[in-house]
Amino acid sequence: MKCPECGKECRKGTIEAKDSGSITQLFTSLLWCPEDENGKKLRKETIDLKLRGEGWYCDECMKVIGVFDEK
Ligand SMILES: [Zn+2]
Repeated sequence: MKCPECGKECRKGTIEAKDSGSITQLFTSLLWCPEDENGKKLRKETIDLKLRGEGWYCDECMKVIGVFDEK
């Protein structure tokens, strides 16, 4: 996959929630929130995502592009 920011080929990997060992900090869900045309979050249309997905890392931008399945 090419980086959407700079167009360079990214390295493929996985993204997963990291167990911090503390109950209070435990990752329980990921949410996708759509934005309206003004960039405002539309909370009522959120989608629950699985905590594990595919990810592509760009060395150039030091960013990860993730692909997550809906829960
Ligand atoms: Zn990039």
